Amino acid sequence: MAEPIPGSELTEPTAQGGTETKLTQELKAIAEANSEATPDAHLDDMEIHQPGAEMRNLFEKYPEDQQEVLVQIGEGESAVEVRLCGEGNNEQLTEAAKIALSQLERTFGRPLNEIFPGLKIYFADGIIDGGGLALAEENAIILDTVKQSLTLEETEKKLVEDEILHPGDWSSLSESPSTLGAQITIVHEVGHILDEKVNGNQQSVAFQGLNQAESPTLYGSFAAHEDYAESFTYLVSGQDLDEKRRQIIQSDITLAAS
Ligand SMILES: [Zn+2]
Repeated sequence: MAEPIPGSELTEPTAQGGTETKLTQELKAIAEANSEATPDAHLDDMEIHQPGAEMRNLFEKYPEDQQEVLVQIGEGESAVEVRLCGEGNNEQLTEAAKIALSQLERTFGRPLNEIFPGLKIYFADGIIDGGGLALAEENAIILDTVKQSLTLEETEKKLVEDEILHPGDWSSLSESPSTLGAQITIVHEVGHILDEKVNGNQQSVAFQGLNQAESPTLYGSFAAHEDYAESFTYLVSGQDLDEKRRQIIQSDITLAAS
């Protein structure tokens, strides 16, 4: 469930003389493995990261006193929080997170702390390989601060070069050129959390019967669970989505909100 956000520091020459990130190569390999679609392919992918390792690393590198709460919904243990660990542009990230969370609340029709009690979303550098990671068991999402601070357009441009998105796949989700990648990635990762909450180990089971080539984005066509998260993002952003996908996602949203 690692997200392919560009990491320019990882670029290295390819045989063709172009550049491709190591991360991108790894993600492509995972995506190709998943696209061969044994129903459990994505579970293998989930088992690659040891459960708990990322959260342990995060709290080791960024103890509580180096975490700043940017957004909080609700009170006490069930509060949903967005936290910035260490350095980052807290103003921009707060704005992006607020927009994403309000879009999500509008979609679920209830406060997020009632849908995902205790969910914590961390911006932190040096913890994950990709741009974002949903950890359903730990009720947490980790986002790479540097990668998520790029604009949506910058992010998409890089991912189009890496053949992970088609032009317009993500940039069409916002009319504002200043929108951060963070805004879209938060929604995408919450899509994974919803999927696991409702479908558990049968994650995105209804999507496995769909033609992944019809996913709203190229990235979504790589694997059923990414198709699910991308379709969820389209629905939350108010974009067109084919009827089959809309019905499945809407039914999961209704289940989670009931
Ligand atoms: Zn994903």
